[in-house]
Amino acid sequence: MSVKPTSDHHGPGLPSDWPAKKKVTLVGAAANFVLAVGKTVVGVIGQSQALIADGIHSLSDLFGDALVLIAARWGSHAADDNHPYGHARIETAATAIVGFLLLAVAAGFVFDSVGRLFDPERQMQPGWIVLVAAALSVAIKEGLYHYTQIVARKTRSPLIAANAWHHRSDAFSSVVVIIGAGGAVAGFPWLDPLAAIFVAIMVGWVGWQFIGSSVAELVDTGLSPEKLEELDRLISSVEGVRGHEQLRTRKMAGQAFMDVRIHLDPDLTLREADRIARKVQKVLIEKVPEMTDVVVGISPKT
Ligand SMILES: [Zn+2]
Repeated sequence: MSVKPTSDHHGPGLPSDWPAKKKVTLVGAAANFVLAVGKTVVGVIGQSQALIADGIHSLSDLFGDALVLIAARWGSHAADDNHPYGHARIETAATAIVGFLLLAVAAGFVFDSVGRLFDPERQMQPGWIVLVAAALSVAIKEGLYHYTQIVARKTRSPLIAANAWHHRSDAFSSVVVIIGAGGAVAGFPWLDPLAAIFVAIMVGWVGWQFIGSSVAELVDTGLSPEKLEELDRLISSVEGVRGHEQLRTRKMAGQAFMDVRIHLDPDLTLREADRIARKVQKVLIEKVPEMTDVVVGISPKT
């Protein structure tokens, strides 16, 4: 026998997250648009391959934002008949796509910059305006990191959290541009393409992590051993529970799902057994923040 969850407030999808996710992503997208155009234009005028790489990076971020926006929109839809567990996995799939996008952009820039590094004729002569643009980029991105991190904590969305860290890595990326273009201004022109390679590798690394975390989720990786211990403890704390078996968990874009079979006194009435099962379900959903769906089975145990 199984008890299906009946709580309306903890159903998968959490539609109330949508406005917060939408706003933080739109703010990030607006900044990425300004930075993409600004850095690419200044990179061409000011002759810095590193800044152009950073500008194209911001453009790829803009595409990423569009994906996040679409994913947050669909992922926030509540469960329906076709998708009884909600639509959160759409967010996971979009994260993987963003990852591949970043990896592709990174590979292109590494290829081009390595060519320039070994061919002094193709190296550019950056001007001071490049340093101003890169410094502005650092300030804007560091600010976005803090703002996005606050929203990520509120919505418990790993995708928004990943985006926050992405903003910070973008800030670091522009620091590298300052070092590279600054070095080139000081008379070492090879430092600029070298910085471009670093910027590209950072973009690729972020992309690789996006892909890794999405794949882990898509193959139904369970919760951590520490989390499982906590679940253990919570289940055992409910009065009348003699033990449990077949505890299984899985994650979906920041939400956790689980099922478990609890052992009860065989002489209990069905009504009593049902009450205890619902109590277990309630405790788990209330005490574990990311737990959104709990299915409890019952076995008699003397
Ligand atoms: Zn980026």
